[in-house]
Amino acid sequence: MLTHVYSGKVRELYRADDGTLLIVASDRISAFDYVLDTPIPDKGKILTQLSLWWFDQLADLVPNHLLPDADVPAEYAGRAMMCRPLEMVQAECVARGYLAGSGLTEYRLDGGVCGVSLPPGLLEGSRLPEPIFTPATKAPAGEHDENITAGQLAQREGAELAAELARCTLAVYRRAAQVAAGRGIIVADTKVEFGIDASGTLRLADEVLTPDSSRFWPADQWQPGRPQPSFDKQFVRDWLTSPESGWDRTSGRKPPPLPSHVVARTREAYVMAYERITGLTWTDPS
Ligand code: ATP
Ligand code: MG
Repeated sequence: MLTHVYSGKVRELYRADDGTLLIVASDRISAFDYVLDTPIPDKGKILTQLSLWWFDQLADLVPNHLLPDADVPAEYAGRAMMCRPLEMVQAECVARGYLAGSGLTEYRLDGGVCGVSLPPGLLEGSRLPEPIFTPATKAPAGEHDENITAGQLAQREGAELAAELARCTLAVYRRAAQVAAGRGIIVADTKVEFGIDASGTLRLADEVLTPDSSRFWPADQWQPGRPQPSFDKQFVRDWLTSPESGWDRTSGRKPPPLPSHVVARTREAYVMAYERITGLTWTDPS
């Protein structure tokens, strides 16, 4: 029997009788910290299959939360993973190799990101001299994650765990960047989550290296000094902030439903991310 234990923005968590965790990815999409009313068909399956592919690519670097021998119930086939229940580290572990998003915003304010100082003169989308670890707090629903320094992470989690989180996050980023580069894709940044299992082992958890957790840019179109085209929710964000949506981001109201052309192009972006990264053709796995 499965007991529902948590509803996230995108995923539903269930606990099986033997204590294992079933993580089901829905087709929900979030933007600007809102969960939208319009689902993106197949998104949950694409995120799950891409995560599984990456967990395999990273298996020699860091242990993960998958229980590969446990069966996913048929009704969730393709969109779920059986996992070890972990005590989650209450921090978002981010690695950045390029300047974008909140990293860019912070750099423009004080020349650094999360207490890491960076050389002057970097542009939007610039490559950093080396990848950096830029943790953030996990914000409650509806609120925005806040960047913190490695020192603040050490205060919260202890110096030893904080150092291990930085090491593992950067190792994951470096491997991912190397694998994706072979496919003509830049991994600009990525967010991973870790948890600790019953025997005290740190494990990579949640989803990994999906368009929801990472910025993927086509390498042949990379051009610092402007926003980069990317394989993610760009169409959704662009449409929501365009006059066509009639939505005012500062109004405090939730965004309107997405029109079908935005849904279709967003689904295509997720499929393209999966296909370009894995080199496989997307087929419904269920
Ligand atoms: P949160 O802010 O808590 O991450 P979310 O809205 O992003 O919420 P989802 O990503 O939709 O949530 O749901 C996944 C949830 O499952 C996250 O809270 C994540 O930390 C948690 N999680 C992932 N893997 C495990 C695991 N192995 N054991 C326990 N919890 C896990
Ligand atoms: Mg999440």
